[in-house]
Amino acid sequence: MALRKLGDRTYLYPGSPSTLVVALDGGAVLVDPGHGKSRHKDIRRELQKLGLEPRAQLATHGHADHISVSARLDAPLYIHRSEFSMAESSLAREIATFGSAAPKGFLPFDLPGGVRVHGIFEWGDEPFGLKAVQLNGHSPGMTGFADGEESVIYVGDALFGERLVNSVGIPYFVELQLFRDSLGKVRGFAESGYVVIPSHGRPVVGEEALDLVDFNMARTHEVEELAIEALEKPMSADELTLDIMRHYGVEVTPERLALNFVPVRALLANLYNRGRIKAVVEKGLKWAVLRG
Ligand SMILES: [Zn+2]
Repeated sequence: MALRKLGDRTYLYPGSPSTLVVALDGGAVLVDPGHGKSRHKDIRRELQKLGLEPRAQLATHGHADHISVSARLDAPLYIHRSEFSMAESSLAREIATFGSAAPKGFLPFDLPGGVRVHGIFEWGDEPFGLKAVQLNGHSPGMTGFADGEESVIYVGDALFGERLVNSVGIPYFVELQLFRDSLGKVRGFAESGYVVIPSHGRPVVGEEALDLVDFNMARTHEVEELAIEALEKPMSADELTLDIMRHYGVEVTPERLALNFVPVRALLANLYNRGRIKAVVEKGLKWAVLRG
């Protein structure tokens, strides 16, 4: 596949995730190099056509599909400090999803060779001229990268394409309010005329960008309402997850169910902390709407 030109110095290498390429003096800065057997070769070939060598890699967050090929691209990798251990340690990634080591095959995209991080940045920093924007909620240190000169922002997994949301049912977040706050921020960039690039989905601008943000936001509220309705009778997190997936008619596999447990548990924590539900022990840990 070929690079798609977005602006004077910005390009996009398609995929899921897509990779943002920013051409700077002396090389290319890659945002989310991605995963796959030959992806590093493909990206290198496309950079060579522009006379560029990879100079640095920036990661939006430490999920393996975003950074698996980074070690094969011979350019230092930078990530937010809250994502550091998840990027380097597959066990930390497993813990983030399961709270423990994961059953084999439940976390896709893992690279046995491992990933090495060379430096960290803070939100508000401008690594290689790109502004590091706090967009967490999908993961603790999720970062968007904004190119103010080109009015382009790569938002990682702070926003999902419609097709992805429809295939899984529930957008993936580990903290619901942060995820919504980040969607609000992405909306602000869209209102300012930025091209908004989700990792999994195509770039959007103007009305289309606003619609996609609103679609993601609406889905979080819809899932919340479904949960409140369902929890009229006490349910475990697993039962509620299955209930919501069936509502959206998405394919249920053990792996998908396990992944969707994560945002559902985050939703339950949010509802509990807001005093909307209570915890009960009834053949296991269950959750139920709080009256009163
Ligand atoms: Zn992710």
